[in-house]
Amino acid sequence: MSNPGSIDISGEPAVITRSQHPVSRANISPNALKVLYRLRDAGYQGHLVGGGVRDLLLGREPKDFDIATDARPEDVRRLFRNCRLIGRRFRLAHVLFGREVIEVATFRALQESPDSEARHVDEDGRVVRDNVYGTLEEDAFRRDFTVNALYYNINDFTVIDYAGGVDDLKSGVLRLIGDPETRFREDPVRMLRAVRFATKLGFRMHPDTERPITRLAGLLGDIPPARLFDEMLKLFMGGCALGNFEALRHYNLFGQLFPQTEQSLTHEEQHFPLTLISHAMENTDKRIAENKPVTPAFLFAVFLWQPVRERAALLEAEGMHPAHAMQHAGSQIIAEQASTMALPKRFSLPMREIWVLQLRLERKGGRRSLRALAHPRFRAAYDFLLLRAQAGEVPEALGQWWTEFQEQNPQQREQEVTRTRPKQRRRRRPRRRTSGGES
Ligand code: ATP
Ligand code: MG
Repeated sequence: MSNPGSIDISGEPAVITRSQHPVSRANISPNALKVLYRLRDAGYQGHLVGGGVRDLLLGREPKDFDIATDARPEDVRRLFRNCRLIGRRFRLAHVLFGREVIEVATFRALQESPDSEARHVDEDGRVVRDNVYGTLEEDAFRRDFTVNALYYNINDFTVIDYAGGVDDLKSGVLRLIGDPETRFREDPVRMLRAVRFATKLGFRMHPDTERPITRLAGLLGDIPPARLFDEMLKLFMGGCALGNFEALRHYNLFGQLFPQTEQSLTHEEQHFPLTLISHAMENTDKRIAENKPVTPAFLFAVFLWQPVRERAALLEAEGMHPAHAMQHAGSQIIAEQASTMALPKRFSLPMREIWVLQLRLERKGGRRSLRALAHPRFRAAYDFLLLRAQAGEVPEALGQWWTEFQEQNPQQREQEVTRTRPKQRRRRRPRRRTSGGES
């Protein structure tokens, strides 16, 4: 390759025959095969593309199967009863088989088209509308990375490679197709995708792909909060949270997603928030590897904990009651985060509960421990407390106490509650005489 920054887009593609590649129909989802065959039988081209081909070539299990075709979305809908057309920026067909969704996209071009009606670029170079149908070749060059632009042709089981993706797969290189800066400006989310794929595949970025990222990181500021939320889920709920966290920070991208967290990390004391986050990322990856459930609420609670603590401390210093301060700080930090990244209520409510429960868990013993234990969010709050203990923010013994308390039978718990009953409360009896006590 003479000029690694640009790729020859006029040449013939490399065609890898069935005997030269390991992609086998046995490893392709039967539903994806059904779609491919039906397209073929109706006289259309049908290719498996993207992560499906890439992962099969690497001997990995694909997450999902995407299909590219010369059939228009309306044609695809006619062929499949179980099909729905989606997408505003470009229209896609989703063919539904129970919980499995096969995404079928019509070949698109991303060349500068003479009539700029169909494709529109804003002043940063970002593509805001992009609905030009094209050929297979054009479709290959509008994709992001060379390793994502490989097509498995259902007609003859060959793999079609226009952009040099097979070589890059072999050498473990993640390389943007075309001029990197132009491609990042067209769609800044590609910077997050670059990090995600490099981490997941264990690839290194090509230097030309890597170089502009830190400088262009700020372009993510223009991405709609809902899209950033989707990307954040892929980055942190895909089994490589720790690697992605570290890489995102390295490229100055993390602060684009979590500005308040980044700020608290830059003035961290005794490595505390960094340790907390790293441990949480590690645990998340472990849980995913063990097929245990993870929730974005917990991740958000972790990322925003330090900003919330700092805000709560300020409010307390102004005389607010600690529990109220925590509530208010939580609301404020969540509102600020939501201006960058969407944060659906179904996650923001439980994360606030996790935070507020921390205050209750910090005071072990007495009746209130039983009430905390019965709280629907106890388990998440307890896991959170353990993380804090691990990071040195609260004593290990506190986490230990809650661990043992949970493991006890009701009788033992009753004894423990009596034994640890707070002294001052005993003096306050009979209860009726006290007024305005909390809990
Ligand atoms: P995975 O599904 O394993 O996360 P993938 O490569 O399949 O990885 P998808 O987000 O499912 O990623 O996208 C499917 C394909 O669509 C990609 O492989 C790529 O070819 C193309 N693509 C997706 N997003 C972009 C983008 N922002 N710019 C250019 N091409 C893209
Ligand atoms: Mg995919």
